[in-house]
Amino acid sequence: MLPLHLITFVVMKNNALLPKISLSLIFCFIVLLGFTQQKKMNIPQKKEGKDIPRPKLVVGLMVDQMRWDFLYRYQERYVENGFKRLLREGFACENTQISYAQTVTAPGHASVYTGTTPAIHGIMGNDWYDRKQNKLVYCVEDDSVKPVGGNPNAQPMSPRNMKVTTLGDEINLAFNFRSKVVGIAIKDRGAILAAGHTGDAYWYDSKTGSFITSTHYYDQLPGWVNIFNERKLVDSLYNLDWNTLYPIETYVQSDKDNVAYEGRYIHEKEPVFPHILKNQVGTNYGTIGATPYGNTLTLAFAKAALEAEQLGKDNITDLLAVSLSSPDYIGHQFGPNSIEIEDTYLRLDKELAVFFDYLDAKVGKGQWTFFITADHGVAHVPGFLAKHKVPVSTINLNTKVINEIIKTKYKIPTAIIAATNYHLYLDHKAIDSTGADKETVITTIITELNKDTAVWMAFEAKELNETPMPAEIRERFAKGMNPELSGDIIVVLKSGYFSGGRTGTTHGSWYPYDAHIPLVFMGWGIRKGYSFKPTWIIDIAPTISALLRIQPPSGTLGNPIPEITDLR
Ligand code: ZN
Ligand code: ZN
Ligand code: ZN
Repeated sequence: MLPLHLITFVVMKNNALLPKISLSLIFCFIVLLGFTQQKKMNIPQKKEGKDIPRPKLVVGLMVDQMRWDFLYRYQERYVENGFKRLLREGFACENTQISYAQTVTAPGHASVYTGTTPAIHGIMGNDWYDRKQNKLVYCVEDDSVKPVGGNPNAQPMSPRNMKVTTLGDEINLAFNFRSKVVGIAIKDRGAILAAGHTGDAYWYDSKTGSFITSTHYYDQLPGWVNIFNERKLVDSLYNLDWNTLYPIETYVQSDKDNVAYEGRYIHEKEPVFPHILKNQVGTNYGTIGATPYGNTLTLAFAKAALEAEQLGKDNITDLLAVSLSSPDYIGHQFGPNSIEIEDTYLRLDKELAVFFDYLDAKVGKGQWTFFITADHGVAHVPGFLAKHKVPVSTINLNTKVINEIIKTKYKIPTAIIAATNYHLYLDHKAIDSTGADKETVITTIITELNKDTAVWMAFEAKELNETPMPAEIRERFAKGMNPELSGDIIVVLKSGYFSGGRTGTTHGSWYPYDAHIPLVFMGWGIRKGYSFKPTWIIDIAPTISALLRIQPPSGTLGNPIPEITDLR
């Protein structure tokens, strides 16, 4: 046993030691803390991108009317760094479908960037019937604004009719408007609905051959837009004429050049190569939209915007939303199996390779996140399929004939007042004033519609849940119907059938040729791979939002696609 005084000593000794150790430890901490704080204070002001890793720039590219299979259809002739780079370095969602029935341009662009469907965002079609105004309205028309630049009599446009925010709006809100969002397309709706309410949008004025905007965005065109317009790039492009990139006999993936079911340019006698465009200089600035040079022009403008607006320069994420409208115009006119479309995609592939290199050089390799998708696909030209014995046809959905029948039976002058997006709108006032039983009138109309061999089914909109049909189809119609803006009767045509003319083709149905779109992500935050899991047009905006750690748009119905990233 130790003597008491010794124990005391030891304890005393330990007690004396402890404070010494603690003091030096605390001292060390203070020094370290001071050092780290010093270091933090030396970090430049814009440190947002350091705390949460984000890309400098998101580039969304929509190719109007690009069917999913175009990623692969001409792949043997694609260059190494265009579509092939996307598939090699990016993540391909191979089974991406449009979630609602009406597969047309305006809902397509709105749905990609809002992550929701016409039921919520209110962009029912390129146009729809407005019961309050008793007229057809155009998706982006807005008489409270004025056009800026180009033709002073151009219809004024804005995103007013879109009832929710877009990805671009959420980027601006997330970064307190220190970010920059720019939407660009030949089609006004392709630029405006992509940019959202708070981004800038520029579209093409076919009267003057200039990119323009409206007072929703600016009171006058920014200087760089004027400089771009003054270059009159459209004239230089017209002067190139349009001939095939390769000898025409090598276009073995396409139909013959000259067929009766191909449409032709108004200035041409036949729909054949070479398509002469020189004669359009100074006379018709609209034609360029229906040639591959429309893509060249749009991408050149996108580059001008990137440089002038300093997109992707700092660490606050910007959005460049580009839509290439020309493949749609060309596709409508010549059809997806034409040499014209094959040549369009071969040219686009090369232009994409150059554009990707440009983004690498300007923004930096691995600093930008890219996605490519489409607003809808396209049907085969009925004449072409019929030649190969596939039973399809165009129909003329003639409401006049039905209105005559209703007039004779019930003395209602014009029961159907509008028909658009395969929605029929009834004149409720006129029907009520005759005292006719509305349900009987509607049943008569539906019976008449169902007599047409092209009609798969016509049904009353409010009876959707009671109408027998596969759940997958019902869901698409439900997501496409808007309580304020829908018609009373909906007509669904059989697969391959559409309302149209003798030449060319269109889109607008729920069938896979119209609804199956490409979706490939590439760049910052994206892992390599592919999936055939069902994904939807409305998943794109929440996916990018998740990647950026920001709120998804305000009406989002879709979900982030988890497979595309390894980021945590
Ligand atoms: Zn379109
Ligand atoms: Zn042709
Ligand atoms: Zn179209």
